[in-house]
Order: sequence, then structure tokens, then C-alpha cells
Amino acid sequence: MISSFDEITYEYFGEDYCFYCGTSKELNGLQEHHIFPGSFRKKSPTVWLCYKCHKRVHKSSKFLKLIQQLYERRSQERSSSNSK
Ligand SMILES: [Zn+2]
Ligand SMILES: [Zn+2]
Repeated sequence: MISSFDEITYEYFGEDYCFYCGTSKELNGLQEHHIFPGSFRKKSPTVWLCYKCHKRVHKSSKFLKLIQQLYERRSQERSSSNSK
């Protein structure tokens, strides 16, 4: 059993769950989102977001920042736990 919300989102960087809220793609359908827009877009990594979070990320620059920070934090945590 998954015991906390954090573990759900933490585990799934992939295409099956929303990067932010952990909604599964069966429920909501996920959309690919470029973390860094504009001129960085071509090189930008992408995450999968449910349509609600995706809409929100393009509406609110605060939320966009949050997703970017979350992405950076998780990739750091990921690489540091892998190297141990
Ligand atoms: Zn979501
Ligand atoms: Zn997007």
C-alpha cells in the first residue's frame, strides 16, 4: 500500500501519473509539459501533467515556478539517492 501522497508523486516521474498531483492517466489523461518554456523549450525536459495541472501551469506563473522547483528538487534527490 502507498502510505502517503508524497510517495505517490515521488515514485512516478514517468508517464503514468501527474507529476504534480499524482492523478493516474487512466483517470484524467496526461499531457506532456515542457518545464522551461520559450527559448529553452527545445532543450527542456518534459513532465506529464493531468489536464487540470497543465491548465493551471499555463495560467499561473507562480505555479509554473513551483513545478520547475519541484522538478529540480526531485531530479537532485533522485540522482543523490542513486549514487548512494
Ligand atoms: Zn495533476
Ligand atoms: Zn505545457
